[in-house]
Amino acid sequence: MVGKAVYSWWEYPSVIIVADPGQVDADLATGRLACPHCGGRLRPWAHATSRRVRQLDGSTTLVRPRRARCTGCRATQVLLPGTLVPRRADAAQVIGAALVAKARGRGWRRIAADLDRPPATVRRWLRAARGHHLAWLRHQAVRHAALLAPEVLADLAAQPTDLGDALAAFGAAVAAWRRRYVRHAEAWTLIGAFTRGRLLTPI
Ligand SMILES: [Zn+2]
Repeated sequence: MVGKAVYSWWEYPSVIIVADPGQVDADLATGRLACPHCGGRLRPWAHATSRRVRQLDGSTTLVRPRRARCTGCRATQVLLPGTLVPRRADAAQVIGAALVAKARGRGWRRIAADLDRPPATVRRWLRAARGHHLAWLRHQAVRHAALLAPEVLADLAAQPTDLGDALAAFGAAVAAWRRRYVRHAEAWTLIGAFTRGRLLTPI
């Protein structure tokens, strides 16, 4: 993590997931963002290809992620807002809403109808957040909450399902992050950063 615990990254591909996209340009301009490979300063380096992302209300938003290049090793990074889920057309908020609905006992057909998304797509999301991956998600949530404000974990109540437990842990991590940094930060954008863009298993 660099600066305000706003950034997380994958080793490969060279993507940094950003919890607070409004902060990126300022951090790059002042050299506060370090290269995950060598620790050198990242500087602005044009933009990545823009893409359309479907939002909860059905509208699409054009997102043009910032690129950065390291002044040391010259590796380039894409700074992807946590609101995007790599290789998925829907925003993290949409996929998150499907996961929350499932934890409340809804089936995939009903969730798809409620969200106005194709049933097969919703079923793929739900299948991509279970088993080992779900355990990994919960671990990321607990780890971030413990780092930021361990006391929030004391309020966690056991949920009826593993998915419910993972979502409750994310709720705690989001509360901990907001308490320490930016109160209005959007929950699923933060969760996108906590999970390094891997809310769902890669396809
Ligand atoms: Zn570097």
